[in-house]
Amino acid sequence: MAPKTLDTDILILGAGGAGLFAALHAHKAAPGLSITVAVKGLLGKCGCTRMVQGGYNVALAREDSVERHFMDTIVGGAWLCDQELAWKLVVLAIERIKELENELGCFFDRNPDGTIHQKAFAGQTFDRTVHKGDLTGIEIMNRLAEQVWARKIGRLEEHRAVELVKSKDGSAIAGVLFIDMRTGEYVFVRAKAVLLATGGGPTMYKYHTPSGDKTCDGLAMALRAGLPLRDMEMVQFHPTGLLAGTHTRMTGTVLEEGLRGAGGYLLNGERERFMPRYDPKAERATRDLVSRAMFSELKKKPTPRGGLYLSMAHLGAERVAKEFKGMVERCADCGFNLAGGLVEVVPTAHYMMGGVEFAPDCTTELPGLFAAGEDSGGVHGANRLGGNGVANSTVFGAVAGDAMAAWVKDQAPREPDRAAIDAAIAACESPFRKKPSTSLEAVREKLYDVMWEQVGIVRDAAGLQQAQAELAALDSELDSSPVAHTERAFNLTWHDWLNLKSLVAVSKVIAAAAIARKDSRGAHYRSDFPEAGALEHSAFTSVKNMTVSMKPVRFTRVAPGQTLLRNVA
Ligand SMILES: Cc1cc2nc3c(=O)[nH]c(=O)nc-3n(C[C@H](O)[C@H](O)[C@H](O)COP(=O)(O)OP(=O)(O)OC[C@H]3O[C@@H](n4cnc5c(N)ncnc54)[C@H](O)[C@@H]3O)c2cc1C
Repeated sequence: MAPKTLDTDILILGAGGAGLFAALHAHKAAPGLSITVAVKGLLGKCGCTRMVQGGYNVALAREDSVERHFMDTIVGGAWLCDQELAWKLVVLAIERIKELENELGCFFDRNPDGTIHQKAFAGQTFDRTVHKGDLTGIEIMNRLAEQVWARKIGRLEEHRAVELVKSKDGSAIAGVLFIDMRTGEYVFVRAKAVLLATGGGPTMYKYHTPSGDKTCDGLAMALRAGLPLRDMEMVQFHPTGLLAGTHTRMTGTVLEEGLRGAGGYLLNGERERFMPRYDPKAERATRDLVSRAMFSELKKKPTPRGGLYLSMAHLGAERVAKEFKGMVERCADCGFNLAGGLVEVVPTAHYMMGGVEFAPDCTTELPGLFAAGEDSGGVHGANRLGGNGVANSTVFGAVAGDAMAAWVKDQAPREPDRAAIDAAIAACESPFRKKPSTSLEAVREKLYDVMWEQVGIVRDAAGLQQAQAELAALDSELDSSPVAHTERAFNLTWHDWLNLKSLVAVSKVIAAAAIARKDSRGAHYRSDFPEAGALEHSAFTSVKNMTVSMKPVRFTRVAPGQTLLRNVA
């Protein structure tokens, strides 16, 4: 089956903050280039940047500084961050927020004196989170999408990337194979430079926050292309995901951190407040600590539905209704009274700190392939600060756009490895050639349970090894699971099968990295190794042998015990 072939200079996979910033910057740097954004959903309407509630961290105030933002990021990341990436994040966040307001048309909330309002977020020593109410992501994405639409930037919507295809000699990227989801046709897009910006997304856990279009496809493609991944054991759980029942996708969605910040209580199934027993900061402790305490309480005294309660009523229903209007409405839609009653919650998988290893100019080990946003690893170390996620995707998206525009100037289109394209098509076609066996629903439920119970908030060697065996079995089960309907146009069962293949592949890497890290640090907690160990980060280098090695962190700007002083270049 020969795919349709298209040509472009720059191909961008994903249309979140990273993808759209890359498109705008590449176009600005070299307006004559042909740039194409290819996205699994609709441009501007999918991915997690649109879901950003809280806001964007940036050191704008005179009393704040990039050094302070940098130190908060390094300490928050439990000293595992790549310091050059973190430095670039905090410095360029200032440029990006100004570009968003002054060039791209965003309006962020302002103080009475006209300056941008910045609010407090956990883990930061200064109030530096820029926001638009609690719908910051919609403001950013709407403006970015409008700007992309207004320029001559190509769009391939509802195009699912399925394989990064190297050149015939294997020395560089040659393009990407897609499925046009609307027709089911295969499309090969040849490109001189490709950006991986599909946004990671830990949707393999029973409870999760990211958008449904995110199924770690980018990371799975990177694995197949042999790219090294780092810090894959570091999965962040947000403490307050809504528990609204099994019938609704609202389960797992985030109730914002500000509720705990304002003084909300967490209660167990017997309606006892438990957080003061776990940490002096109680509900205001960091996400990892609160999630772990909740996980332990869930095992002992859950609600009848298997969750815990969030209680705000002691703060006064009127105040809660006024300060958290959006959250009150979201809870009411699911039958809960946030202002005056109890809301059922569970910790929920929110963000992957790990991803493809990349350099500060967004290049990767494969020439011509660039990475940015949640697909990349190293910026946040062992833990991401709330507000640094959208900063990461916009900052590095822009860097990648500039870098790709410069790179393609000296490049000619490359002849792709045709055998690799054929093999990728055969792999995508394989579920149509099977005889009926298991249902995909059963595979998904099993995956959710394995990841939640054994590779989730609290881990140990025995559980992780069992998870590895179960994940291998799930992979084989998928390989023998058919897609009953052979119609290709909008065949969602087929895409579900492909989603699960990506999720299982990446879950195996998370489990392998979690086994390799024999200590507890940041988001990774091993009950059999509860103390923090040496300052090393994990590097996953071979999918064939599932090889993970631990590498010492390079303290290129600041070492533990030191602090970065202002005005360091
Ligand atoms: C509910 C929620 C609230 C959040 N709140 C905040 C916050 O307040 N502050 C903060 O800093 N961060 C927050 N985050 C994190 C933040 O949203 C992410 O860090 C960031 O937006 C990721 O940007 P991205 O461009 O890498 O990915 P995304 O914005 O997720 O975009 C990924 C894109 O890739 C596409 N894609 C996926 N697979 C494929 C494929 N196979 N082929 C083609 N395209 C594909 C998707 O359709 C999408 O367009 C929040 C996340 C969630 C889920």
